[in-house]
Amino acid sequence: MSAPEPTGRLADIVETARHAFRRSYLREPRYIVAAPGRVNLIGEHTDYNEGFVLPAAIDRHVVVAAAPRTDGTVHVHAVDLGESSSFDLQAINRDAAHSWCNYQRGVAWALQGAGHMLTGMDMVVTSDVPIGSGLSSSAAIELATAHAFELVSRLEIDGVQRALLCQQAENDFVGMRCGIMDQYVISLGQEGHALLIDCRSLEYRAIPLAQGPALVICDTKKRRGLVDSEYNRRRQECERGAAALGVRALRDVTPEALAARQGDLEPVTLQRCRHIVTENQRVLDAVAALEAGDLGAFGGLMNASHVSLRDDYEVTGPELDAMAEAAWAVEGVIGARMTGAGFGGCTVNLVEREALERFLTAVPAAYRAATGRDPEIYVCRAVQGVHRIA
Ligand code: ADP
Ligand code: MG
Repeated sequence: MSAPEPTGRLADIVETARHAFRRSYLREPRYIVAAPGRVNLIGEHTDYNEGFVLPAAIDRHVVVAAAPRTDGTVHVHAVDLGESSSFDLQAINRDAAHSWCNYQRGVAWALQGAGHMLTGMDMVVTSDVPIGSGLSSSAAIELATAHAFELVSRLEIDGVQRALLCQQAENDFVGMRCGIMDQYVISLGQEGHALLIDCRSLEYRAIPLAQGPALVICDTKKRRGLVDSEYNRRRQECERGAAALGVRALRDVTPEALAARQGDLEPVTLQRCRHIVTENQRVLDAVAALEAGDLGAFGGLMNASHVSLRDDYEVTGPELDAMAEAAWAVEGVIGARMTGAGFGGCTVNLVEREALERFLTAVPAAYRAATGRDPEIYVCRAVQGVHRIA
């Protein structure tokens, strides 16, 4: 899992990490690890229904520089926060004063819990994955930390296993209920590809993305206030739907089967089920469209996904709707939809190269006019998952 010399933005963050390591620990780092953020192209809220998702790792990275210690302690310096925290591998506790360090602690805890023998280390962490925008800075931190532990401790952990342990760290140590998608794609992502992940079997297939169009992420700058309570409520609604339909998960229901049984469901439950069932189908159709080189069909499925999340799943809100509508109005936009849990965060857009300039002018202006907020726009590409830098 190593790659050629990094260039551009990543090279800059690597330099920052190397520098900060020298300043903090007065020695050279032994290992440098980069873990990307991620964006989900289609397949929203399907993960906890044991369905399909299609995320890609993106060229915004968390970088960790590390070197082993012989005393079983782990020292972490968070460059971007200007804070440090240390812990003993023999007794890993939560750090209430530096809650950011619970990600590193949680990863160490999960790796040890799985029987891996860890070596202590000095590490610094720095990143250009925006925090709390929904591009999964948290999972990038986890995967970078896990891979740094693998290197200093001379472990070899399979990519799916690594993702599961990082998910466990976030669920059970940090205390955030999340699916497997983020950790999975950040562990196993491939340059120029999205991953079709089956969230039931945990199998995946890398799907080549067309080289031409730009992958553009638009941050509404609206933070996801409602997200925890509404997320848990949607999960319950899906469980209720699956129980009423007599299946283990909504993954097991086809659009035709749902149509035949719709009289058995309460209206809101039916809406929720309809989103999940049609969204799973859209992911499979989207993969077929990509493989057939039919970008128009792919974009249409992205747009339909947004409409389903807006009308049936009811997780968009005015900001995400305004951002999607702003994109839909621009000629040369192949598809646009909300991505992530909803209520705020980002949209993901596939934009013809020749329309990029137009997009970068028109979308912020239209969004600002509709909401009074200034968005943040990231033009991205799909990159390799977590890897060591030589
Ligand atoms: P996201 O959508 O970006 O994953 P989360 O709230 O899940 O948002 O995770 C963000 C948390 O991850 C931060 O509050 C912090 O604890 C940790 N984190 C993210 N980026 C950094 C960073 N650059 N340095 C230290 N900790 C970070
Ligand atoms: Mg997160």
